[in-house]
Amino acid sequence: MAMTQQLIGAIEAGGTKFVAALADETGSILARTRIATRTPQECFPELTEFFRAAAADHGPIAAFGVASFGPIDIDPLSPTYGTFTTTPKPGWSGARFHDVLGSFGAPVVVDTDVSGAALGEWLAGAGQGCTTLAYTTVGTGIGTGVLRAGKSLMGFSHYEAGHIPVPRDAAVDSFGGHCPFHRDCLEGLASGPAIIARWGKSLSELDDPAAIDLIADYIAVLAANLILLHMPDRLIFGGGVMKSPALLAAVRRKTETRIAGYIKAPQLDAGLERYIAAPALGDDAGITGAIALGRSALA
Ligand code: ZN
Repeated sequence: MAMTQQLIGAIEAGGTKFVAALADETGSILARTRIATRTPQECFPELTEFFRAAAADHGPIAAFGVASFGPIDIDPLSPTYGTFTTTPKPGWSGARFHDVLGSFGAPVVVDTDVSGAALGEWLAGAGQGCTTLAYTTVGTGIGTGVLRAGKSLMGFSHYEAGHIPVPRDAAVDSFGGHCPFHRDCLEGLASGPAIIARWGKSLSELDDPAAIDLIADYIAVLAANLILLHMPDRLIFGGGVMKSPALLAAVRRKTETRIAGYIKAPQLDAGLERYIAAPALGDDAGITGAIALGRSALA
């Protein structure tokens, strides 16, 4: 007789796609699918169907881990745990992961997509060996997950690092910002959609050193604030916008300038080449983290 395996269902919920997977306790993926992000009425039945079929093939699911876009309630003690709150994404406000996964009778652990990616990188990628780790995505949105000893930090809700105010010199950057709430917050100035709204092209398509420089200026404000507020052992920057060549190097340079020698620590290497890193897991960070979240619910 085969040894009883505790299987984990995992979901990485992103703005453009959902990745769902069934994994064993070691994190090896047994089944996996990709679903385009539409409304919950369209996505949730497809998720249920995938997990039903995967469980029929491999065995019952013992726990679920979800790493999701937000804003979403990630407080396990809240009655609305796992529910999307003020997201402008049509149909998603009020949608709840427990509604789709509850029928499996297994515990559900929900955290943000960035905390999930941070956990994935901490376990198996560029964050290995870090006690405190900050993972930031700069893409459709901007967000940061901060881990301390493998546990994600939060206050009454998850952090909203993408919406910090950043200094904008209107003489240099006349674009007024893209955020429906704050206009020229960080996400309003430096996210993928903000870049397209400003220049009509992505950073990689523009291939303009001045554009790289401007976006790096904004991102370096966040990087410096993360250092000042959390003193992480490493900063990881991922997401579509960061795939633009030269942007990470510019962020390193500008972050070092902003810190201005004020913090001396072995973590902060000269040039920040080691300190500010690209993700090592690429597109697998999120689902790796979601599996780890599910594993954390196993006894
Ligand atoms: Zn904002």
